[in-house]
Amino acid sequence: MHDVIIVGAGHNSLVAGIFLARAGMKVAIYEHAATPGGAVATEEVTLPGFRHDLFSAGHVRFAGSPAYAALGPELEARGLRYLVQEPSFGTLLDARRGAWISSNLDETLAQFGRHSAADARAWAAQYALFRRAIPFLGRLFSMPQPSFATARTLWQAWRTLGRREFMEIGKSFFATAHEWSARHFESEALRALFVPWPCHGDMAPDDAGGALPCLLAGGLGQTRGQLVPEGGSGRLAEALAKLYTDLGGELHCAQPVTRILRRNGRAQGVEVDGRDIEARRAVIASTHPGLTARLLGDATGPAALPAIGTMVIHLALEGPIAWHAGEHYQRAGYLHLNADTDTLRLAYANALSGRMPEAPLVVWGQPSAVDATRAPAGRHTAWLMVRAMPMRGIDWDAQKEATADRVIAGLERYGPIRQRVLARTVCSPLDLIRRNPSLGGVVPLPLHASLVRSLPPRLRYTTPTRGLYQIGAGTFPGPGLSGTSGMLLAQRLLR
Ligand SMILES: Cc1cc2nc3c(=O)[nH]c(=O)nc-3n(C[C@H](O)[C@H](O)[C@H](O)COP(=O)(O)OP(=O)(O)OC[C@H]3O[C@@H](n4cnc5c(N)ncnc54)[C@H](O)[C@@H]3O)c2cc1C
Repeated sequence: MHDVIIVGAGHNSLVAGIFLARAGMKVAIYEHAATPGGAVATEEVTLPGFRHDLFSAGHVRFAGSPAYAALGPELEARGLRYLVQEPSFGTLLDARRGAWISSNLDETLAQFGRHSAADARAWAAQYALFRRAIPFLGRLFSMPQPSFATARTLWQAWRTLGRREFMEIGKSFFATAHEWSARHFESEALRALFVPWPCHGDMAPDDAGGALPCLLAGGLGQTRGQLVPEGGSGRLAEALAKLYTDLGGELHCAQPVTRILRRNGRAQGVEVDGRDIEARRAVIASTHPGLTARLLGDATGPAALPAIGTMVIHLALEGPIAWHAGEHYQRAGYLHLNADTDTLRLAYANALSGRMPEAPLVVWGQPSAVDATRAPAGRHTAWLMVRAMPMRGIDWDAQKEATADRVIAGLERYGPIRQRVLARTVCSPLDLIRRNPSLGGVVPLPLHASLVRSLPPRLRYTTPTRGLYQIGAGTFPGPGLSGTSGMLLAQRLLR
C-alpha cells in the first residue's frame, strides 16, 4: 500500500512528491494528462523544431523560491538551466512610444528619464523600498500561514523598515494597480509598464490588491531580468519528474483520478480507471479546490466556468519581429501590448459581461531571443498570452481562429507581425482546460486573497476531510511557479 497518493502532477505535486519520497515514503502520483508538469509544459505545436511553452513561460518567481533553493543543484543535474533575458519586460503604447525595465538600474533610469525625470526619481525610490522590503516579503510568502513565524517576521519588518515604509508596503496589499501606477508615475508609458501585472493573475486594474504585483514584478525584473529555462518551460517539469522517480516515486500519467475515496470522514485513497487505490497516510489534491470537491462527491451538477479565461497563441516565425519602437523591444522577455489603463478597463468590463474585447491585453513572450534551442537556426517563436477572454456564451471551438486573426491584426500597429508567421496554433481557454482541468475552476486567486484562503477550513493545506490535503494554485501563496505549497505541506507531513 502507498503512504501518500497525489492527485495531479503539476509542479507543486512533484515538489511535494520529491520531499516525501526522499524521506522514505511510498508515494504515487496520478495525472490526467499524458505528461507531468500541469501548467508547465513545452511542445512542438506548430512546426518541427519550434518549441512552444503551452502555459507558463517566465520562471523568475520559481528561481527565487525556497523549493528551488533546496532542489536547484539536483534539478540542474537533470537538465534545468536558466537563461537571463534582458530587458526583462516592456510595454508598447503605439508605433513610437514604450518603456522597458532591465537589471541595469542606470540604464533603466536613463530611459525612464526620457519620459519624465520625476518618473525616474519615483522608480528609484520604489525600487529602493522593494530592496529593503523583499527579504521580509520573500519570507512571508515562503512560510506556513498563519504562524507565529509570520507575526515575528512582521515585527522585524516594522522595526527594520520603520512605520512609513511598513505602511507603504502594507497599502500595496490593498491598493489597486491603477492607484499605485497613477500615484507614482505621470507618464502614460510608465503607468502602462506596471499596471498590467496583476492581470497575469486575472485581476483588473481597479481590483484591490493589484498594487503589490506591480511592485514585485518591477522589483524582480529590475533585480534579475527575466529567467527562462533553456529548451522551454517543460524542462522544469522534466527535471522535477526525473528527480521524483529517481527517488523511487511512482508517476502514472494519462490516468485521471475519478474519485477520492472517503470513509467515516477520512480520505482512504483514490479511484483510477475503476480501481480503488489505497493510501495509508494521506491523499493530496493539487487540483483546484472546486475540482477536489467534485472528486469527493461534495459538489455535483455541471461545473461553472470562470467568467474570464486566457487564450494562448503560438507563432513559428521566420525571424524576430522588428517592433517599430526600436530594437530593444526585440530582446525583452515579455512585452505588454494594449496595456494602458483605459484599454485594460474596457477589456475587462467587456469580458466580464460576456463580450469579446476589441483590444485585449496581450503578453507577448519571445524566449527564442535568448534561447537558440527554441527554434531552428535563424527562426523564432512567440507566445501570446491573451488575457480577459470571455468564457460564457462563446463557442470557442468555432471562434478561436477568427478571434486570433483579430487579435493579431490589432497588434500590427506595433510592428509587422503577419508577414513573419510561418505557422500558428491557437489554444482557446477551453483547449487549455481540456489539457489541464485544474484551469477550469475558480479564477486564480490574487496573493492577498490566497492569504485568506489559508485560513480555516484550509488551515495549512488541511481540508474538512481528515487525511485529505489541498495544495496548488488555489492555496497559499497562490498561482504562479514557486512549488511552495507542495514543499510546505511535505514538511508538515514529515514532522
Ligand atoms: C496560460 C498560463 C500562463 C502562465 N504563465 C506563468 C508564468 O509565465 N510564470 C509563472 O510563474 N506562472 C505562470 N502561470 C501560472 C502557473 O503556471 C500555475 O499557477 C502553476 O503552474 C500551477 O501549478 P500547480 O502545481 O498548482 O497546478 P497545475 O500545474 O495546474 O497542475 C494540476 C494538475 O492536476 C491535473 N489534474 C486535474 N484533474 C485531475 C484528475 N482528476 N486526476 C489527475 N490529475 C488531474 C492536471 O492535469 C494538472 O497536471 C501561468 C498559467 C497559465 C494558465
